[in-house]
Amino acid sequence: MLEKRNCPHCGQTMNEWLGPPESGWGMILVCNNNECVFFKGSPRMIRNTEEESPLGCRYAEDPDNNYTPFSLVAWHGACRD
Ligand SMILES: [Zn+2]
Repeated sequence: MLEKRNCPHCGQTMNEWLGPPESGWGMILVCNNNECVFFKGSPRMIRNTEEESPLGCRYAEDPDNNYTPFSLVAWHGACRD
């Protein structure tokens, strides 16, 4: 069971999400709020995956790693910055 946690950027309850097998993450927590300042303020868009899709970085935490925050690019992988 994961804790209920709120996104520190927008206050919305974060959703549990099972990372893709290749990511090596287990269940993680992600802020799915499209209005989240973290998401809207993503420093860069990823351009080489799906052109013109509005990918950005979502705020996420890894419960297996003491809820360490990280950035999740849409549903692909971690932001590189
Ligand atoms: Zn948020």
